[in-house]
Amino acid sequence: MRLADRTTRISGSPTMKVTATVDRLRREGVEVIDFGAGEPDFPTPEHVKAAGREAIDQNFTRYTPAPGIVELKRAICDRYRTDYGVEYKESEVIVTAGGKQALYNTALSLWGPGDEVITHAPYWPTLTEQIKLADATPVLARTYAEDGFAIHARAILDLVTPRTRGIIVNSPCNPTGALISEADLGEIADVAARQEIWIVVDLCYEKLIYDAVPHNLPGVLATKCRDLTVLCGSASKAYAMTGWRCGWAIGPAPVIAASGAIQSHATSNVSSITQKAAVAALTESQAPVKTMLDEYRKRRNQLCEWLGVDARLRCQKPAGAFYMFIDISDLLSLDGFRTSLDFADALLAESRVAVTPGEAFDAPGFIRISYATSMENLRDGSARLLDFVRTHQAREAAVR
Ligand code: PMP
Repeated sequence: MRLADRTTRISGSPTMKVTATVDRLRREGVEVIDFGAGEPDFPTPEHVKAAGREAIDQNFTRYTPAPGIVELKRAICDRYRTDYGVEYKESEVIVTAGGKQALYNTALSLWGPGDEVITHAPYWPTLTEQIKLADATPVLARTYAEDGFAIHARAILDLVTPRTRGIIVNSPCNPTGALISEADLGEIADVAARQEIWIVVDLCYEKLIYDAVPHNLPGVLATKCRDLTVLCGSASKAYAMTGWRCGWAIGPAPVIAASGAIQSHATSNVSSITQKAAVAALTESQAPVKTMLDEYRKRRNQLCEWLGVDARLRCQKPAGAFYMFIDISDLLSLDGFRTSLDFADALLAESRVAVTPGEAFDAPGFIRISYATSMENLRDGSARLLDFVRTHQAREAAVR
């Protein structure tokens, strides 16, 4: 069957594949501990759900302007002013179906054939696939476990060529949990400003940072290269709203207008009900965000302790997001496992624990564990993982 060329350049989301497998197994009645899911296990806060219900009751159920209702665009501007001290107008904001669509609109608005777009690896695969969907070429700056996956300006700037059209930074990063420092981003911004390179920041995990480290990325960029900056954010992780599909892009009015035109022909507005709920999420109490963050922090610390007993599961405490990115390369000679994909498959088949193999993030030799799940699941799942490793080691020792 002849499909469009672009379909041969991309593959489906590997992280969503893990979710689909878990879903299938559960429907078959198999009990699985899911460390794959990249989404909060908390319910959407009550006042946010109430705002959604009220929207339905008040028949706020029709089309809205494609780029979003003014009330929500204002709420987004106010949130960023309060959080980061940056000033944006409504014409500089678009409401999108999740951070994913904010990034996609941005990619289609900014990148084209012959363009190179730099990002850092390991990466969330959608970022590079979207670059390819826009007919541009992703260029990767490696970050390293030994270095806490730090995103160094130098590593990114060394890749700049006359074809470089943009740089995408994801901080906190999925899958590593690493943050870019304000100083590194500032260095990148200085070069971007001189050479007219776009900077796109994926801030979808901006509310999930565990220690009080400076992370005013919007502030840094507003000072150095506001006209070349697009900020992509999301209600998904911060407010436990993954299913509602609400995100946003903030940037220069012409980029936002182009994104709006694209969106108006693709999906139109985000659900009217979702938009009302998002207004409540952004403008009312932020206490639920802190409560969830505190719980994720406890889980992260506990999980590090549990897994820390086996030195072959090498990991550091992530600074943000809700993933542990574990180097399992010491285990890859064990009992026939050649790749982290083999390891993840066997772990699911034998121990019923779903993790995402590093291959999904261009990082073979790693597995990603999401700790957006209950402490009980984390206890059982990590015990199963440790057992799995012990069993395979014993089996290998027996064969030798
Ligand atoms: N960016 C990153 C790094 C992500 O991990 C995700 C979701 N997994 C998103 C953006 C998009 O999430 P959403 O579309 O739900 O806002």
